[in-house]
Amino acid sequence: MAKCSIDQVSVKGKRVFVRADFNVPLDGGRITDDRRIRLTLPTIESIVNRGGTVILASHLGRPAGTGYEASESIEPVSLHLERLLNRPVRIAGPTPTHPQTAQTIRDAAAGEILLLENLRFEKGEKKGDPAFAATLAQYADIYCNDAFGACHRTDASMHALPIAMAGKPRVAGHLLLRELRYLQGILDAPKRPFIAILGGAKVSDKLLALRNLLTRVDAIIVGGAMAYTFLKAQGMAIGKSRVESDLVGEALLILNEATAAQVPIHLPVDHVCGESLVESTPTRVCHGDIPDGWMGLDIGPDTVSAWQRVLSTAGTVVWNGPLGAFETTPFEVGTFTIARTVAALAQAGSIVVAGGGDTAAAVSLAGVDGQFSHVSTGGGASLELVEGKKFITLDALDEAPAVVTVGV
Ligand code: AMP
Repeated sequence: MAKCSIDQVSVKGKRVFVRADFNVPLDGGRITDDRRIRLTLPTIESIVNRGGTVILASHLGRPAGTGYEASESIEPVSLHLERLLNRPVRIAGPTPTHPQTAQTIRDAAAGEILLLENLRFEKGEKKGDPAFAATLAQYADIYCNDAFGACHRTDASMHALPIAMAGKPRVAGHLLLRELRYLQGILDAPKRPFIAILGGAKVSDKLLALRNLLTRVDAIIVGGAMAYTFLKAQGMAIGKSRVESDLVGEALLILNEATAAQVPIHLPVDHVCGESLVESTPTRVCHGDIPDGWMGLDIGPDTVSAWQRVLSTAGTVVWNGPLGAFETTPFEVGTFTIARTVAALAQAGSIVVAGGGDTAAAVSLAGVDGQFSHVSTGGGASLELVEGKKFITLDALDEAPAVVTVGV
């Protein structure tokens, strides 16, 4: 069942606690990727435009949990939000439970936007402390979860807070609903053929996802460093490529399970190899075995062509993990080319979804993030959905009201 949307509740004259995920990358106070912030704007605007007061809250970085720290302040987010919204966004007080915070919230007018200081200034946040949640619960009339990237965590504001606000409306924001629609929706009812692309550094991180996907997809493409554990399992020489030797047996099991389930797993057939993972390293393309002293750092041109053919008919593509060491030139070519290939599929009507921080970064560097159907804002959270897990943080949210059909 779908969760109730913020748009489906009356907010006029009400205070709405919006748990967002503003845990954005910062470089000397400058936000280097603001997608998580931009995608919450429709939720904020929906409340403000209908006469509600917005109380935004998020964690940011890793404060010690012992009170206010200037270096961990949420201020860069409030300044950025002010620019995006073209409205004042006021930090409510020095910590989420400071008496000044409670006072600011009491005095707030309809249409005002407040932002609580970094939730992790309070040690109760990460501990999921019900007492901390009870304090937050007093601030608002409505709870709105718009923090997809934190849904797999049972922090107080994510889990104990909606429970503490039982009896009041507890709803989902636009960003959260969009993430669930794309990630959960396509896993449950994909347009076929459904093809998964998995890559990245480690098989161990993606084992559960691989197993769950095997029961749902029509084919799986495996690239990145994790492919070398599978290729080693098949007996190929992999030189000094990154590998998880302890998982070679597990990789073989998965290959056998895939054969039994008649789900093809496509592994690279050639590799752009380097002597080491640095920009000026000598490179060569290896077909099959990789000689000693060389490491596979990107998929080769024959693999790109083969995978373009596999992908050409896909109705749905889910992608998690880059296909090479894309941060280092020239090992970005395979990842970027496949990113452009699936972006073109999305433009032609297929559903193409990317999840995972590195995948989102790669797709954005390839310049095609705007062409994907959806690029998830939650790395860990999106992987957990692909693994088939459910978020208990969503249990306390209200279900969407049934659509009433009026007879003619
Ligand atoms: P993950 O966080 O597991 O998705 O892994 C992403 C990281 O895997 C990126 O930093 C890539 O540079 C790295 N990566 C992908 N392919 C390779 C490869 N063939 N060799 C070494 N690192 C790789």
